[in-house]
Amino acid sequence: MAEIHLIGRAASPGLAIGPVTMLTASMARRTASDDPAQEAAALRAAIEGARAEIAKQIKTIQGEVADILQFQVAMLEDDALADPAYEVISAGIAADHAWRMALDAEISGYRAAEDEYFRARAADIVDIRDRVLAHLSGVDTVARIAGGSIVAADDITPSAFLAADWSHGGAIALAAGSPSSHVAMLARARGAPMVVGLGPLSWNGQPPALALVDGDTGSVIFDPEPETRRLFEQRMAAANAALAEAEAASLAPAHTADGRRIAVLLNIAAPEDLAGLDPAICDGIGLVRTEFLFEASGGLPDEDTQYAVYRRILEWAQGRPVTIRTLDAGGDKPIKGLTIDGESNPFLGLRGIRLSLARPEVFRVQLRALSRAAVHGVLKVMLPMIAVPAELDRAAVMLDAEFAALRTEGIACARPPLGIMVEVPAAALRAEDFDAAFYSIGSNDLTQYTMAAARDIGAVADLNDAGHPAVLALIARTVEAARKRDVEVSLCGDAAADTRLTTALLATGLTSLSVAPVTVARLKAAIAKAGSRAGS
Ligand code: PEP
Ligand code: MG
Repeated sequence: MAEIHLIGRAASPGLAIGPVTMLTASMARRTASDDPAQEAAALRAAIEGARAEIAKQIKTIQGEVADILQFQVAMLEDDALADPAYEVISAGIAADHAWRMALDAEISGYRAAEDEYFRARAADIVDIRDRVLAHLSGVDTVARIAGGSIVAADDITPSAFLAADWSHGGAIALAAGSPSSHVAMLARARGAPMVVGLGPLSWNGQPPALALVDGDTGSVIFDPEPETRRLFEQRMAAANAALAEAEAASLAPAHTADGRRIAVLLNIAAPEDLAGLDPAICDGIGLVRTEFLFEASGGLPDEDTQYAVYRRILEWAQGRPVTIRTLDAGGDKPIKGLTIDGESNPFLGLRGIRLSLARPEVFRVQLRALSRAAVHGVLKVMLPMIAVPAELDRAAVMLDAEFAALRTEGIACARPPLGIMVEVPAAALRAEDFDAAFYSIGSNDLTQYTMAAARDIGAVADLNDAGHPAVLALIARTVEAARKRDVEVSLCGDAAADTRLTTALLATGLTSLSVAPVTVARLKAAIAKAGSRAGS
């Protein structure tokens, strides 16, 4: 059989080879009673069973994965999800059929959404549907995946992903799917290569036995010829050897080939992201996204809760600088009770610092917690989505006031330096106008605003290119402003972890990059090779 080459979109980096497991959802079967009251009770019990099962799983995991499952718990706790099912049950339909009908309608709604973020959540609803069906029927509907397999499917649910052992290789090749789906986030966190958007996986006759997945370029080869396989295995061996070497070297500080010292900092979303990590792998923490605290609290986290979390992170860093970003809600990060629903273009709306200034009672609590935490290490506070100097100035006045109030109250505190994210082109073009203690370039937003190509819409992903000369020029402009004002500048968007861009980024004069912990080794290896074009 001739080998089949398919091109899709890279969703999680790395190379993998393995036997193909085609995923098809198994159907739950159960015997229904004729009594609507009994059927409704069975559905209620199944929903509660599924909810309790996920809640139990959450206790064993941390960080991003826990957030993903938390989303499913929140969906199951929302009565609106099951209401249509109860309605048809009262008209005499069996619980499993009623639930499937209701959820299938919900799933098609998510799949048809204009916003890729919502389309990407469809797999979670499929997951919820199947879990509840499993509880209704007593059958396990979550497909079991053998470790090391290349999972080929239309899409895959987070449960199916989490049920597999990814520690011995394996990869995911999806006909549909999205790089911003929860499964893609999980795959990146677990180091499983993933390619999405391959188009229909249809075979003439036998499904393929073996596949090669290239999560770096976004391509998959099914049933490779022996020579193709040999060349791929050679590439894989070289990549694995390079990664092993990089991991061994990742405790050492990073230097370019021509000897420039580059600071490598960490991006985290919760203290749990630091579990088991040796602080020596980094020069500090370049970005703490605090949205998780607000999402997890189901309301607004109080000052003591925030203080405890910030303090834990500072203590982990053992004197290395820690940059904590104030709440960046809005845009692609809605927070119940805080962000505005129904904005026509949330990325251009009341998000980041704009929202914090509009809700001073929320912002002040965060500024107080940060000032209290500042005595436990080297804290820097960073403001997101800054467009004009007045925003920084207003925030500085509020920080000063909270610091002064804490001192008057006799509470231990320090006034942390206040810097800005440079992620709006206006701020990049006029960076020197800001009285900022430091700059941190948010390449994710800077790219989407410069290229007018949203970060979460797959159809414009090609335009959303952080390596575009226009984006690099704005980065270079910001680095130059930092040099003139003699303040530090770092880059903490995803571009910092894209090793294809390392040389270009260092050529702008940047000497500090901040990335997710799993990508530190790769980045340090790329830095060690960069340098010849790295300018001054
Ligand atoms: C960015 O925009 O590059 C950034 C780091 O912030 P976030 O991805 O959280 O918007
Ligand atoms: Mg941003």
